[in-house]
Amino acid sequence: MIPRASHHISRRYISKNALKVLYRLKDAGHLAYLVGGGVRDLLLGREPKDFDVATDAHPGEIKKLFKNCRLIGRRFRLAHVYFHDEIIEVATFRSLASDVHEQEETPEPAAASETSAPPHSDRKRPRPPRLLKTEEGMILRDNVFGTPEEDALRRDFTVNALFYNIADFSVIDYVAGMDDLKAGLIRTIGEPVQRFIEDPVRMVRAVRFAAMLGFDLEERTMQALIEQRERVALASPARLYEEVLKLFLLGEAEKVYHLLRKTGLFGVLFPSLGEWFETESEGYPNVWIGKALEWIDGCVQAGRQIQPHVLLAFMFGRFVESKTSDLVAVGMHPHAAIDLVLSEFFREQSARVLIPKKTALLVRDMLRDQTRFAKTSGRAPLVFSSRPGFADAYAYFRFVREITGDNQDLSAWWAEFLRHRHDAASGESIGRQPEALHHRQRRKRRRKRRRPPAAQTDPVL
Ligand code: ATP
Ligand code: MG
Repeated sequence: MIPRASHHISRRYISKNALKVLYRLKDAGHLAYLVGGGVRDLLLGREPKDFDVATDAHPGEIKKLFKNCRLIGRRFRLAHVYFHDEIIEVATFRSLASDVHEQEETPEPAAASETSAPPHSDRKRPRPPRLLKTEEGMILRDNVFGTPEEDALRRDFTVNALFYNIADFSVIDYVAGMDDLKAGLIRTIGEPVQRFIEDPVRMVRAVRFAAMLGFDLEERTMQALIEQRERVALASPARLYEEVLKLFLLGEAEKVYHLLRKTGLFGVLFPSLGEWFETESEGYPNVWIGKALEWIDGCVQAGRQIQPHVLLAFMFGRFVESKTSDLVAVGMHPHAAIDLVLSEFFREQSARVLIPKKTALLVRDMLRDQTRFAKTSGRAPLVFSSRPGFADAYAYFRFVREITGDNQDLSAWWAEFLRHRHDAASGESIGRQPEALHHRQRRKRRRKRRRPPAAQTDPVL
């Protein structure tokens, strides 16, 4: 236990809502700790992204204490306490429960009476297990409550398992997390191989925390990660998608990429892209992705929000273009070629990292739109630049010109055209033609929107 005087956490930097939750739990006689990334970040002098709370109150008890509370999660049941600008996650202390087996779970109470039971009900069916593991030990569900120490031991990394106790403002460290925080190390709690088998997503998280905090992976943790990396393919593709977004949008994507390559995780997450990087010569695609991620990092660090499809288009764009140009060379239409390459790529990719359909379509539009930059005559540039996806497509177009140095004239033309449009819109210098066209187009669009739905005017449709 590290007393208040020996650490730097001050309540001033904890959100008011988190403090409210902690105090209410404490006042109701429960243990109430701030846990996880919030404590880690406060100790490092970083601004926490969110505040998580752990307590010995059970989910039902938490719900009774907070009106603005919902219980969520099946794999991991916890309470969300809602405030108008923040959600505080409150979890009951979990046990490692490594010796609890599915068969030991208490069966659901039998139906009230034999006669009233419906003929097909299976009264012997056990209640869904609170801890569920595959034969190999991968955790599928984890709802066995435990002591604070057990709760610390079941967390992923030592630096993520520190508790801040609201009762006396001390930090409780069951896992020597403070030492690793000082040494700048990401170390699994317990045996790294076993912890990665239990939950392979922890391998991806290890990379994220190392890149985010500028820490090293502790030697045995790194070794186990390299050894067990293929198991990431066993994790849920939807969960991996969320992790991949967090990985590449934290503002340190270049570091993340190098660590993923170094550990071999990149090829597991993105098989065909990884393979392509291996086969290309002179390190060229690596230069490309390095620059693309540098661009992404620049935006994130400048506080600009990057949409997932923009990230994916920057990451995968060169790969898609290279495959597409092979098809175009044998006579396929560029759009058809992009569609074919992308649908195959997304289908294969989604077995590992599930890219939502909506996002995939936006990536497709962004890459398809690149051919429209060649059309600089007539109304085409005006129509194109008024479309909602134009800004994303243009960012990518400019980025490609900068990296390749190709088509500089075209790039200059668009820069000039858009400057002209911008000036016209702000009324500074009116370039007649673009202004006139712009208004004509906007009028037309508005008329379209006012028209009643087709089904009402034309019952035949
Ligand atoms: P971030 O700053 O990204 O929010 P975090 O450390 O708070 O980082 P969360 O995903 O918010 O990460 O999880 C909160 C805490 O829950 C972690 O710090 C860790 O203690 C625990 N945790 C999360 N995921 C796992 C996991 N897969 N296995 C074990 N413990 C986990
Ligand atoms: Mg967190």
